[in-house]
Amino acid sequence: MTKGTTVRMPATTTFTLSRTPLELRRRRVAVSSVTDLTPSYRRIGFTGPDLAGFTSLAADDHLRIFFPAPGEPLPEATTDGMPAGLQSREYTPVGWDGERSLTLDFVLHGEGVASRWAQAARVGDEVYLGGPRGSLVMAGAPQWWLLAGDLTALPAIRRHLATVAPGTPVDVLLVCDDPADEQELASPGDLTVSWLHSPAGSPPADPAVLLAALAAVPARSGDGFAFIAAEQSVVAPARSFLTARGVDLDRAVVKGYWKRGQAE
Ligand SMILES: Cc1cc2nc3c(=O)[nH]c(=O)nc-3n(C[C@H](O)[C@H](O)[C@H](O)COP(=O)(O)OP(=O)(O)OC[C@H]3O[C@@H](n4cnc5c(N)ncnc54)[C@H](O)[C@@H]3O)c2cc1C
Repeated sequence: MTKGTTVRMPATTTFTLSRTPLELRRRRVAVSSVTDLTPSYRRIGFTGPDLAGFTSLAADDHLRIFFPAPGEPLPEATTDGMPAGLQSREYTPVGWDGERSLTLDFVLHGEGVASRWAQAARVGDEVYLGGPRGSLVMAGAPQWWLLAGDLTALPAIRRHLATVAPGTPVDVLLVCDDPADEQELASPGDLTVSWLHSPAGSPPADPAVLLAALAAVPARSGDGFAFIAAEQSVVAPARSFLTARGVDLDRAVVKGYWKRGQAE
């Protein structure tokens, strides 16, 4: 199949996506571990009794982390909501036990309240968490998968990979600026992983690199699922690309996970 070829919609659907609400609770948690997986990618473990009952039903679920002001302790909450004035950012649950532990992965991109907090995080540091408030739950089994993004999408991509039916073709495209940030990925599926690096002089995690590589991914027949998440400017061209490939956008996920030059 050549670049730009229009592919017809599959005759039958093999999976559905449906929204399931979750209880939105405030949880006060403390850092229990800090592990650098690569130079720009840090895994932080959290613990605390408020994590009892924590769950996350879908791979691209997100929760909101509320950070204390730099150098300040986390303020007490006096109402049911979050204390006023805390800055917050979205992250993807990576692992949890439903009792008192949760793991999140942070891209250390250098700027911003979340990246700086993660860079300085020590065991015992506290934050509040809110969410996930809902999940886009998949039922059934796609006949192929296309998972693409920058390092901010890696937690969701890892979670998707774990759910792929054995032997199903999966194409993964990941942009990272430093080859030292490449990581091992595993899946029961038939996995093809491409790590992409922005040429010198490009902006960090350049979505143009991702878009160029998407066009080179072989078009597959059947009912496939696509997840694409990266810097905001990826969204419109990625949706056009998927439409041209015959992907049903109502059963695909294309998201801007951050916006260049703008705090969330
Ligand atoms: C649904 C969802 C799930 C997400 N899951 C994760 C996750 O699991 N792990 C994760 O690391 N991120 C994740 N993100 C992305 C994260 O929320 C953003 O990168 C966020 O902007 C980081 O906040 P910050 O305070 O560090 O930077 P901000 O204060 O928001 O931004 C400060 C500056 O940094 C730039 N910037 C922000 N993010 C990046 C980046 N990744 N690379 C280069 N420059 C950047 C901004 O353009 C801005 O100029 C997710 C986002 C969404 C919407």
